[in-house]
Amino acid sequence: MIAIYPGSFDPITLGHLDIIKRGSRLFEGVIVAVLCNPSKQPLFDVEARTAQIRACTGHLSNIKVDSFLGLTVDYARLHHAQALLRGLRVLSDFEKELQMAHTNKTLMEELETVFLATSNEYSFLSSSVVKEIARFGGPIDHLVPENVAREIYRCYSKTPPTAITNPKPSALVTPPHKVEP
Ligand code: ADP
Repeated sequence: MIAIYPGSFDPITLGHLDIIKRGSRLFEGVIVAVLCNPSKQPLFDVEARTAQIRACTGHLSNIKVDSFLGLTVDYARLHHAQALLRGLRVLSDFEKELQMAHTNKTLMEELETVFLATSNEYSFLSSSVVKEIARFGGPIDHLVPENVAREIYRCYSKTPPTAITNPKPSALVTPPHKVEP
């Protein structure tokens, strides 16, 4: 059975990668399909995102990386996929994902959505969290593949946090105001 794993992947995180690896053990093939969403302003364009995913999934022989524009069900039909792979982290994901799964079912009866529960260590992890940390020069190497971390820092023109000298806590404390009698 062929599954597609659609998403924004802006950028791919270790949480996404974990779903891809586990999906590759369940399905004959998994197509990671990067969605071009003209209404969103991404950090990386679709070409950069597909290249990043290819670079960190190259060792998995049954994974293909592609991009698409339009309905996921049309893409699934075109590629003879019978399953749609999605990840679940928290309850809010579940509501959104269930609605999407039901909608897709009305559009393509034979396409089954398969949910994989996030691995515990990635349950808090999202692309937005990574971007928020990196924007302020914080560490992200434990959250995204190495190649992706480098590109994110380049994007925000930041040096990796090891090169940043933190100000001494005392420098952050304003001395109390001297109140004149
Ligand atoms: P989308 O815009 O389609 O939600 P994302 O790139 O945010 O695209 O996510 C793609 C899929 O990966 C979604 O099913 C999402 O729930 C899942 N996902 C994202 N982060 C994680 C994570 N840390 N663990 C498990 N699944 C995740």
